[in-house]
Amino acid sequence: MAEAKTYAGGCHCGAVRYEATTDLAPLIACNCSICTKHGLLLTFVSEQAFKLVSGKDDVKEYLFNKKHIHHQFCPTCGVESFARGTKPDGTPMVAVNVRCLEGVDIGSLTPTPFNGRDL
Ligand SMILES: [Zn+2]
Repeated sequence: MAEAKTYAGGCHCGAVRYEATTDLAPLIACNCSICTKHGLLLTFVSEQAFKLVSGKDDVKEYLFNKKHIHHQFCPTCGVESFARGTKPDGTPMVAVNVRCLEGVDIGSLTPTPFNGRDL
C-alpha cells in the first residue's frame, strides 16, 4: 500500500483546486448512477486531510436520491473533483476523485468495486 502523501488536485479548468493527504486506500469504483456517469474513482479522507485552495465560491453542489453525498462540481468545466458527506457515525468526510489528483498513475491502481447502486 502506498504511503500517505499530499496530492494537489482539482477540476479541469483550474477554478477548483485542493490538496488532499491520502494513501489512496480504500480506492472505490462505485456502480451508482452518478459514479458511473462521471467515471469516479473515489478515496475518502477526513476534513483535516483536505484543503480547498480555490473555488470555494465557484463550486456548485448537486444532490440527488437520499441527498447524503454533496457532489461538488465546477460550473465552468463540469468536472466533479470531490464530494462531501458524513460517515455513518456522523463524522464529516471528503470523497476525493482520484482521477483529479496530480501525479497519480491511474493504470497502476486496482480499485475495489463498490455496489452503491443497490444502496
Ligand atoms: Zn473547472
